[in-house]
Formats: sequence, C-alpha cells, structure tokens
Amino acid sequence: MGWKVRNCNTELGTQMKPRIPHTKPSITELEIRYATDAAANGWGEKCYEYIQRFEEAFKEHLGVEYAIATSSCTGALHMGMSALGIGPGDEVILADTNWIATAAPVVHLGAKSVFVDILENTWCLDPDLVEQAITPRTKAIIAVHLYGNLCDMDQLLAIGEKHGIPIIEDAAEAIGSVYHGKRAGSMGRFGTFSFHGTKTITTGEGGMFVTNDDALYEKVLTLSNHGRDRRQTKQFWPDMVGFKYKMSNIQAAIGCAQMERIDELTTRKREILAAYRERLAVLPGLSMNPEPVGTINGAWMPTVVFTLETGITREKLQDAFAAENIDARVFFWPLSALPMFDEIRNNTNAWSIHQRGMNVPSYHEITERELNCVSEVIKTLAT
Ligand SMILES: *Cc1c(COP(=O)(O)O)cnc(C)c1O
Repeated sequence: MGWKVRNCNTELGTQMKPRIPHTKPSITELEIRYATDAAANGWGEKCYEYIQRFEEAFKEHLGVEYAIATSSCTGALHMGMSALGIGPGDEVILADTNWIATAAPVVHLGAKSVFVDILENTWCLDPDLVEQAITPRTKAIIAVHLYGNLCDMDQLLAIGEKHGIPIIEDAAEAIGSVYHGKRAGSMGRFGTFSFHGTKTITTGEGGMFVTNDDALYEKVLTLSNHGRDRRQTKQFWPDMVGFKYKMSNIQAAIGCAQMERIDELTTRKREILAAYRERLAVLPGLSMNPEPVGTINGAWMPTVVFTLETGITREKLQDAFAAENIDARVFFWPLSALPMFDEIRNNTNAWSIHQRGMNVPSYHEITERELNCVSEVIKTLAT
C-alpha cells in the first residue's frame, strides 16, 4: 500500500516518457487503399459510390431503414431537429452533463436547451427529471449515451409516447452499445453519430443521421441537399432553404474500411475497458462505465469516477497523469456551468461528478505496458 509510481511510463534504458495518447484512430492498409482509390478514381459518375456504400454498411450494422452521411454529428442533429420543426419559443430537454455539440444546434435553431440532471450510476439523463421538465413548449428530448453508457431508453421512450414528444438519440459516443438487443441510435425518432478522429470509428470528421421514419428521412434528405427535393425536375431549384452538411466521398471511403472492421474496433474498445476494470477492481470508492444486465457498453471512453469520500479529485488525477506524460481528459463540465447558459446548481450530480472523474487513454493500439502504467498511476493515488 502507498507505493510510489516510479517512472512506469519509460522505455527500458531511457529517461524518456513517451506520450500515452488519449485517443487515436485505428488506420490500416484498408483505409489507406480505399481513400487512395477515392482520391484517384472517385469522381464524375463515381463521386457518390463510397458515400452510398458507407450508408448501406451503416444501416445494416445498426438495423435501421435510412441513413444519411453528414459532415459531422452536430450537422446531423441540426438537420434532424430542423426537420422536426424545432424553432424559436420551443424547448429541448437534454442532460446537463454533455458535450456542447448536442446543445449548439438547439441554440442555432432559436430554441431553448433545458438541462436536467444525470443519474449517479449511469451518468446519463434522469428520466424522472425529464418528465418533470416537460412543458407545453417541449418539442424533443435528446438522449445522449455518455461515453458508451446507455440511457434508460424504455423509460424515456414511454415518457415520449405518453406526452407525444420525440426522443432523439445522440449516439455519437455509443457505436457498439446495445440496449436489450437494439443498437444505440436505432431506437429514437432519429439517431446521430460522429466520426470525429477521437471516436471509435472515424472518417477524420464526419457524422450520420439515421431513422426508420420515411417522412423524416425525406425531409432531412431534402434539407441536406440545400433544400432540393429529389423529385424536383428543375435544375438548381431549391424548394426550401436547406443545409450543406455533406460528407465527401474520400471521407466515406475511410468510413467503408472502418465499417468492415467495426466488430474488431468495438471489441477492442470493450477489451480495454475490461482491462482497466480488472486492474482497478480492488480500489474502494471507484466506479467505471456501467453495463446493466441486458446491455452492452460500447466503451468509447473508459472513465474512472471516485466518490467524494476518497478525496480523489480531477486535479489530483490530472497532475498524476501529467507526471507520467499520460494524456487524460476531464469529465464533461455541466453545460449549465458554461458562460452562455444559466447556472443550474440544483443539478447536483452533474455539478459534482466532473470534479472527481477522468477519461483514461483507450486508443485501439494501447499496449499492456501502457494500460499497466495508467492503472498504476490511479492505484497509487487511491491507496
Ligand atoms: C463528439 C460528439 C458530438 C459531436 O460530433 P461532431 O461530429 O464533432 O459534430 C456530438 N455529441 C456527442 C455526445 C459527442 O460526443
């Protein structure tokens, strides 16, 4: 007990501490081959080939009817909420603990984000508080599956049904997560994904809009094409003002390769979470990403959260990681703590958890030595 970490992050016989990165995409010859092919040949008549292939592969993986590749998850959310008619005077409910990307489109549409607290054990939306926050102006509820952890979709979908309010799934962090046989992102009115370079699968930047709703799909397809209805026969004739959030064929080529490797990529993420769990199981007052019975956690972001009693804070974790040149990331701040929103200190879980939590490195190629070192740093702090 109480041992000191002595340079666990050193290569044998040197004083150097190589950086242990937080995230890093897994890029193989396959991604390079497809991207090269798209750059060399994917023009003219073939300029949408990889995009279509990527959308098909994604639909099949998720088990949904429709998918539209986008330039980002933020863009997919923006178009989806615009297609639902969300605008000035409307309210959208989401968790206070969140990345701003989920709230920004609500603001851009002129609507109001209503931040509710998270559950202590899932770090996701508290469904009871969601129901209490519903007003006649509520136009949507966004379920964000934080770090791969799943929201209580049964309860959220029941609330949505009861009040006639669509549930949107921001599944940017939840590829590979499964809720009672259904993949994250496939259960709501629509779902969105991100392929930013830090996510489990990447296209550099990129996103996906998915839905099983025919009419919503048509609307978003039109919006994503600068408002041009696909049945419109006149050239350069937009039927409404739309958006330009398209993915390029070259990005989609990388996405096609990642989808061929999707099982490998999500399995590896789960292995990394399990490896941390195994090494850190003994620590009192520590919890990591939960995986309730009947669910699979896609483990995008293995995360440690300590109880208040342990006295282990974000700052202590940051300092300990920095000393070993480990790139760790802080738990999301409550959005209601940011200067552009009103403070909601009543969201006590959201306002507390980020002070004692940290995302730990989880890139696919992380080595045993690196996993051991990160774990040892945490253990040293906690014992
Ligand atoms: C990464 C992320 C986004 C944003 O994705 P972009 O592709 O960068 O727009 C949105 N929501 C959540 C929950 C995310 O983690």
